[in-house]
Amino acid sequence: MVRHVDDKGMKNCDGCTEQKHKSLFQKYSGKCTDCYNNDRSFSNLKASQNCVDFFNEEEAKHPKRVEALKKKYIADATFEIQVKIRDKMT
Ligand SMILES: [Zn+2]
Repeated sequence: MVRHVDDKGMKNCDGCTEQKHKSLFQKYSGKCTDCYNNDRSFSNLKASQNCVDFFNEEEAKHPKRVEALKKKYIADATFEIQVKIRDKMT
């Protein structure tokens, strides 16, 4: 969802909910570049661990748990290498 841009060129991100300048947003996206990149790297991680389908189902059932896991992964750079994210959901 692309949100309203105010007269100073600011808009709210759908991901982190922070207000940022529109130049910091991905084109045609409601998310800022940081959130966009985080989403993409989490998606790549799911793909590399062959658990995309698993997470699609988990996201439908437990969206908050998946969101929390994603936040943890983003906050901790070593997380990617050390853990199987699928195991973190069970
Ligand atoms: Zn954001």
